[in-house]
Order: sequence, then structure tokens, then C-alpha cells
Amino acid sequence: MYKKDFPFFKNTNTVYLDNAATTQKPNVVIDKIVEYYTHFCANTHRSNFGDANKATKEFENTRNILKDFINAKDAKQIIFTKGITESLNLIASTYAKKFKTVIISSLEHHSNITPWHMQGRTLNDGLEVVNIKDNLEFDFEHFEELLKVNPNSLVSVTHVSNAFGTKHDIKKIAKLTHKYNSYIMIDAAQSLAHFKVDVQDLDVDFYAMSGHKTYGPTGVGALYIKEELLKELPVYQTGGATINDVNYERSIMLDSPYKFEAGTQNIAGVIGFSQALNYLNNIGIEKVFEIEDELYKYLNSKLEKIPGIILYNNVSNSIASKSFNIENINCEDIGILLDKMHIAVRAGHHCAQPIMKKLNIDGTIRASIAFYNTKDDIDKFIKGLKKAITMLKD
Ligand code: PMP
Repeated sequence: MYKKDFPFFKNTNTVYLDNAATTQKPNVVIDKIVEYYTHFCANTHRSNFGDANKATKEFENTRNILKDFINAKDAKQIIFTKGITESLNLIASTYAKKFKTVIISSLEHHSNITPWHMQGRTLNDGLEVVNIKDNLEFDFEHFEELLKVNPNSLVSVTHVSNAFGTKHDIKKIAKLTHKYNSYIMIDAAQSLAHFKVDVQDLDVDFYAMSGHKTYGPTGVGALYIKEELLKELPVYQTGGATINDVNYERSIMLDSPYKFEAGTQNIAGVIGFSQALNYLNNIGIEKVFEIEDELYKYLNSKLEKIPGIILYNNVSNSIASKSFNIENINCEDIGILLDKMHIAVRAGHHCAQPIMKKLNIDGTIRASIAFYNTKDDIDKFIKGLKKAITMLKD
């Protein structure tokens, strides 16, 4: 029913189940980008003529829509970045430096591991990793032990694992974090598009978001910053549009958000992103969750019946992405055969090598759904998977 809004599906018969990597873009997003480039292409926050003012207004409109989408208090708490990776690197290379210890979960994407290595942090030397329980659940007892030994830390965890779909209880993690005078940053790559996020209710300090995982353009993302931290947070890059006054002796910065947005921004991307959020708002994020929940349960029920399947977690603690292996078959071989049948999934380590190593596997096959998928997509995937297994077993 929703595929008609996405031109990708008009041009292909591919069964697209790689939504955790990137989502397809609805017409409204593409149209808005074309409209910007064809009707009011001008730089923002600089010149004062009609099109420049319109570009600035539309750019700031996205900030307001995103503010409401995550229930931030004020639009100045939202700064635009290239995506999650840049949002996490921004904090890693500025604010995080004041913390002796950074605590991450066992289910992090490389984007929440390598920035800490770049700072010279390694396991038990500036970087601590919360153990994982059977069923890939967050080990709260171990987390609290780590916080007791390392109060005043920065906790940086993903809301939902891209590799396994495991959902972390962020409210509970944030509460414990603050109890030990620590701060918390969340990677929202796999959450923002799937269920209602309320940053005030979660009580997080930083929330890193990605446009392209949320039906928006690539190369655009954002970082939410708790109001109390806006003044304290040092700038990351400086230059045009971040400055109030400059002479050769000193630079006086503008206030947030502008002091964090140096140089010409991805204007088309940011403006396009507003339409992705409007589109989701029109459907209703609760409805999106409901549709995906039903599809996810259906996918799980079909996968569970496949002989030789190895599943790593269950449907009750995960959403949207399902990872698995088939006994004695290389996951990438299955991925290649599925591709020949026009079924798009991801097979590999999903940029989460440490957890793959811990589970003693090279990778998994991951099917990740979006609300535009249908039971028919899942049936085709299961049929293709069974065919691939038969071919590889013979
Ligand atoms: N974290 C997670 C959990 C992800 O899934 C991804 C994207 N694969 C990223 C971070 C990186 O996000 P971005 O592409 O916006 O930099």
C-alpha cells in the first residue's frame, strides 16, 4: 500500500529487505530536493534576497520539525551533521575528551567504536564494554559495576542494534548513567524511523540521528544536545556562519545551533529531510511501528521453521532487523544467491565485527524491514532462502 509513494519500487521488482542499511526515499523527499535546486537554490543564513530567505526558512523548518519529532524542548538543541558517524565523531573529538572512561555496549556499530580508538582509548584503558547476556541482552549488573568503578564517564550506546535488531532499554540505561554522575549519548540509526522517540522522556544527553535511515536523503543527519550542555560543548569545526565577530586576535562564536554548523551545509539534504519527517508524521509513527511489528513477527515465525537455522535473539527483545545463519553454510553465499533472485538483504559483519568475533561467526544474513514491506515480500524472501539453502546443501 505504501510502496506507491516510493519511486524505487516502480522501477524494480527487487524485494528490498536492507532497510537497516538505508531506506528508500518517498516522492515527496525527491520532489523537495528538485524544487530547491530548480526554484530557490541559494545559500542559507547569509544573503538577504528572496530565494536566500526562502532557503533559510525551509532549512530552519526542518530543524523545527525534527525538534517536534523527538520532542526536544528547543530547536537550538538540534544541530545538523552528515549523519550518525559525524554526530558521534563530533562528541568523541570534543566533549568526550574530558572523560577518563567511555562505556559502550557489546552491540555497537564501528561508528561507536573506532572514534574511541582514534582518541587512544582501548579496552580497559579508557574504554569499557558492557557484557552481553544470552539472547544478546544488555547486562545491567555488569553495567552498574562498571559505573561504580568509573563514575563521571560518558556512556555511548545504540538504541537498537543494526546487526541483530536488539532494542536497548535506554530509559533504564540513562537513569543508571546519571545516578553515577555520567553522561549518555545514543546512536539512533535503527530507532528513529521505527518507533516514537522522546528525548526528554528518555532523559538522554546526546541523541545522534541519520536522515538516510529515516526515509531522508543521504549525507544528512543531526545531533540533539541537552539544553544544559549547549554552552559547555566545544565547537568541532569553525568557519563561515559560525561566527559573531572576528579579528586577528580572537573569534566570538554565535550561539547554538549555528556555532556547530560550519561552512555551507547540505542544504538540499536538510530541506529534503523535512519531507521525510512530514511523511512519517502523516502516517503516524505509532502506525509505522504497528505495521512493522506485525511484519517482524511474521518474518520471525517463518524463519523459526527453517531447518538448520541459527537465531541469536528472539522477537520480544528486538525490532525490524533479523539476523541468522544456516548451519554449515557461509552467509555470504546465501546473500549472493538471494541477489540473483532479486532479493536484497545484507550478508556479512554489518560493521559490527567485535560482536561477530564474540559469537565466533564471520557474519550473519540480515533481513531488515520497513513499513512499506509486505507479507508477500517476506514470503518471497523465505521462498528464495529455502531455494538457496537447497542449492548450497546439494
Ligand atoms: N550506527 C548504526 C547502528 C548504524 O546502523 C549505522 C549505519 N549503518 C551507523 C551508525 C552509521 O550511520 P550514518 O550512515 O548515518 O553515518
